[in-house]
Amino acid sequence: MVVVSRVAPDVFRCSGTHVNWYLLREGRHLTLIDAGWAGDTAAVVASVVAIGCDPRDVRAIVITHAHADHIGGALHYRREYGTPVHMSAADAGRAASGELEQPRASDVVRRLGEPGVVRWALDVARAGALRRRPLPGAIPLPDGDSWEPLDLPGAPVPVATPGHTSGSTSYMLPGGLLATGDALITAHPLARLTGPQLPPAFFAHDPAAADASLDVLAGLDADVVLPGHGPVWRGSMGEATRIARWRADGVGSSLRHGARKAGPWQRSGSSKG
Ligand SMILES: [Zn+2]
Repeated sequence: MVVVSRVAPDVFRCSGTHVNWYLLREGRHLTLIDAGWAGDTAAVVASVVAIGCDPRDVRAIVITHAHADHIGGALHYRREYGTPVHMSAADAGRAASGELEQPRASDVVRRLGEPGVVRWALDVARAGALRRRPLPGAIPLPDGDSWEPLDLPGAPVPVATPGHTSGSTSYMLPGGLLATGDALITAHPLARLTGPQLPPAFFAHDPAAADASLDVLAGLDADVVLPGHGPVWRGSMGEATRIARWRADGVGSSLRHGARKAGPWQRSGSSKG
């Protein structure tokens, strides 16, 4: 099942199995940011149809990072429609080999006693988490921070925000929207609170780099976060990254066990997308 909601006149948030992807529309043409799990492939196609377009209208897929929950539907798209797939050079290499920088099954098994992990693990196993699916042939994004819009519908501007994976990339969009992938999320089945946050630590390939990328995000002139997981969040990037860091430093997690008073992540600035 797919849920599609309109974030801006031509930007749509779609959610599949505990993960989001986004549709950018320009005229009749679309760019897809991320593509869900392999098991979300039909939902990705359904999301395109839901906004009145044809699957062939998708001109390109741009990927925030090569994790199985973000590249899964891209293989089908490329095979069926020849849709080009773009991502950072570092993550393109990982996608091609299928050796993704993500937790192994054993990392998850060790955490089965933690709240929410069993249900999440069953859901994502059904969505294709246990099968390796190489995705060769992705077109590497321009090197470094060129700050140039890609010549694709919706004009996404790639910004390197490494850490979650070596080549994690966020995309600035017109109108102050920022697709952050998993460099900054707003909810996760394995986290208790909603609001800007880093994904649970064991998902990060390089936690120090992920923390440093919050500084990059803080400097971007955007006020709508389109995360890889969780609802859309509205507020400045300075505030979003402050909250994420505050939580990563453990202040937020200590609140989980103590008084459940409202923290800055729960303020009215956040909204369901
Ligand atoms: Zn993810």
